[in-house]
Amino acid sequence: MTQIACQQCDLLHQEIELPPGGTALCSRCKAPLYRSTPHGLERALICTVISIVLFLLANTYPIVGLELQETRNATTLFSSVVYLYQHDLESVAALVFTTTLLIPSVELAAMLYILLPLRLGYVARGLPQVLRLVQTIHPWGMIEVFMLGIIVSVVRTANFATVEPGLALWSFAMLMVTLIASAFYFNERDLWACVKAHSPDPQSPTAAPGGPA
Ligand SMILES: [Zn+2]
Repeated sequence: MTQIACQQCDLLHQEIELPPGGTALCSRCKAPLYRSTPHGLERALICTVISIVLFLLANTYPIVGLELQETRNATTLFSSVVYLYQHDLESVAALVFTTTLLIPSVELAAMLYILLPLRLGYVARGLPQVLRLVQTIHPWGMIEVFMLGIIVSVVRTANFATVEPGLALWSFAMLMVTLIASAFYFNERDLWACVKAHSPDPQSPTAAPGGPA
C-alpha cells in the first residue's frame, strides 16, 4: 500500500481508491492530497491539440485592426515584436517574444511530446527531463498577462480610432480557456501510473513513480 505525505503538514496517509472526480483531503489540515480525474490524460491531450491549433491561429492572423483617418493597420503578435525591436525597445521585444511566443510554444510541444505517445501506448524518450522542463518554464508563460494588456489597450484606443478585434484576439481568448482546462485535466499521479503501465521494465528509471516533485 502506497503512503502519501500531506504537502502542507507532512502527515502520512495510506493511499485509497477514489470515486471518479473525487479528491482526497488531509485528515489533519484538509489540504488536497490527490484527486481522481477520469480520462484526465486523454482530455489533457485533446486540450493540448486544440491549444496548439489556437496558438497557430493566434500567431498567424492579426490581433486587432485599427482604422484612423482613412488609414488601416493590422498587426500580428510577431510583427509587433519586430516593431518594438526596430524602435529601440530590444529588451521589451525580447520579453514579449519569450513570454508569449517562445515559452508557450515550447510548453505546448513538450506536452504533446509527453501525452501523444502515452495515448499510443508507449513512453516518450526522456519523459522525466521533458516534464521537468515544462515545470521549469511554465511560470514564465504569460499569455494571460499579454491578453489583459491587449484588452486594456483596445479599450483605450477605441476612443480615437475604429478598432476591429481580429481572429487572433478571439483565438488568444479561447486559448486561455483550453490552457486552463489542459492544466486541470493533467494529473501527475495519472501520468506516472500510465508511464508505469506502459513501461516494459517496471524497475527502469523511466518508470519510477517518484518523478519530479
Ligand atoms: Zn495536512
